[in-house]
Amino acid sequence: SQDPAASRPAGPRLRPALDGIPAYVPGRAAGQGSVSFKLSSNENPYPPLPGVLETAVAAAGSLNRYPDMTCSALLAELAERFDVPVSHLATGTGSVGVAQQLLQATAGPGDEVVYAWRSFEAYPIITQIAGATSVRVPLTAGEEHDLDAMADAITERTRLVFVCTPNNPTGTALSRAALTRFLDRVPSDVLVVLDEAYREFVRDPAVPDGIELYRDRPNVCVLRTFSKAYGLAGLRVGFAVAHEPVAAALRKTAVPFGVSQIAQDAAIASLRSEAALLERVDALVGERERVTAELAAQGWTVPPSQANFVWLRLGEATAEFAAACEGVGITVRPFAGEGARVTIGERAANDLLLRTTAAFRRERV
Ligand code: PMP
Repeated sequence: SQDPAASRPAGPRLRPALDGIPAYVPGRAAGQGSVSFKLSSNENPYPPLPGVLETAVAAAGSLNRYPDMTCSALLAELAERFDVPVSHLATGTGSVGVAQQLLQATAGPGDEVVYAWRSFEAYPIITQIAGATSVRVPLTAGEEHDLDAMADAITERTRLVFVCTPNNPTGTALSRAALTRFLDRVPSDVLVVLDEAYREFVRDPAVPDGIELYRDRPNVCVLRTFSKAYGLAGLRVGFAVAHEPVAAALRKTAVPFGVSQIAQDAAIASLRSEAALLERVDALVGERERVTAELAAQGWTVPPSQANFVWLRLGEATAEFAAACEGVGITVRPFAGEGARVTIGERAANDLLLRTTAAFRRERV
């Protein structure tokens, strides 16, 4: 008689859906070496405001307790700030955590998820983890979402569409006219997620606030984060605004106690210090405009960014450009064979970047 154990795999059976997903290995993460300026993760270069930091430290005094599982104080604050009912809000461990919950709530094997490409790198990963199928729609030559092609890509199997505006990594944002035309074409049983992680950096008046678009559209969900404009990337807190069934599904799929009390309290303190934080955002937007204009003067073609980063399409020169930046102490985010995304940092970082891009153009392009 055969030993039944012999035909079994050596270890626990893992879902084949996980094959091919990058497993981040502990060690030197991107941009955590001896760099002077980390311009690779679209973070806010400014440290927390003193008042926000004090609030976080005070919350740390209760670390022996679980946080408020329902984030009730933060949700009440957000409801007032955005003029939406509390029942239309849900928080999560960063907006990427909320995006993963949205997939858990909508899609599984056999279902399709439509998004532009290139766009935020998490979309293919969380789609694959859900066991669903990615349908990628190429950006236009102008590095923008091709919304007509995205609407055409929707089938009976489509459950969710990600629309990233402003788009990571190209910085382009969608106009009200283009977005409403698209939303009018999407069937009402398909969830459209407007990922507005960089909303606070938008200055183009033609670009709508997604929270206005969601109000009369039950299939629209808006994602926002405290990681970028509010400068709390390390605390992992994001939120969604959506009509009640979607918001309730997000509460069902949440990791229990997934947002720490430090994060909840610091997020509330940030909302209460919003004026000071938005002044910093204004300064970063000013730097974005300066960097964009200077890059254009150097001869680069830079898509108009409404976010806190710019996109340099470098093609085969991408790795060499990233190495040149690394050589002067700047870490950028290269996408092999395509281009580099460079976060707008403090003035000194941007000055060094501009000297590096000028030298690179002189020597290489
Ligand atoms: N959406 C987009 C478009 C992003 O670029 C990012 C961060 N890189 C996120 C969501 C996730 O941010 P967080 O999880 O920190 O809220």
